[in-house]
Amino acid sequence: MIVNISEIHNILGGILEVPIHFNPQSIEGLELEEPVRGWIRVENLGSRFHLTGELHSRARMDCSRCAGSFVLPLSVELDEYYAAGKDELAHDSTGELEDLNTFVFFSDEIDLSQTIRENLLLAVPWTPLCHEDCRGICPQCGANRNERECACSQEQD
Ligand SMILES: [Zn+2]
Ligand SMILES: [Zn+2]
Repeated sequence: MIVNISEIHNILGGILEVPIHFNPQSIEGLELEEPVRGWIRVENLGSRFHLTGELHSRARMDCSRCAGSFVLPLSVELDEYYAAGKDELAHDSTGELEDLNTFVFFSDEIDLSQTIRENLLLAVPWTPLCHEDCRGICPQCGANRNERECACSQEQD
């Protein structure tokens, strides 16, 4: 997913809005059910470009409680800074980038593939649940308690 910002590159305060429809080749550990959709907005701040946006997709997951397969809606908000080429970036005395949150792009082209991947992965919860009140697997008989009642808990009481 490459966004070409040539039309605002030399316009201070220039704003570019682009609809996103992106089908990532593969994202480690993420099985997308549909393309990534949404929009991004790039604003020329002079020394940098401010990129914001909202993206949505849906991913197939395994519930961390009952191991059942389900589809989780994913929403991602982008808020990042890009700078053209290396020369326009501020350097400190050691030559390192002053602002590590600024990404570099070349030839008017901002490649969003990596940032979309990373933000989608960050949007996935550590313990995904098929439902907030998923009842999980019975530790005694292995029954999926979302699907049927087992007698185990009653016997315990
Ligand atoms: Zn579950
Ligand atoms: Zn049971």
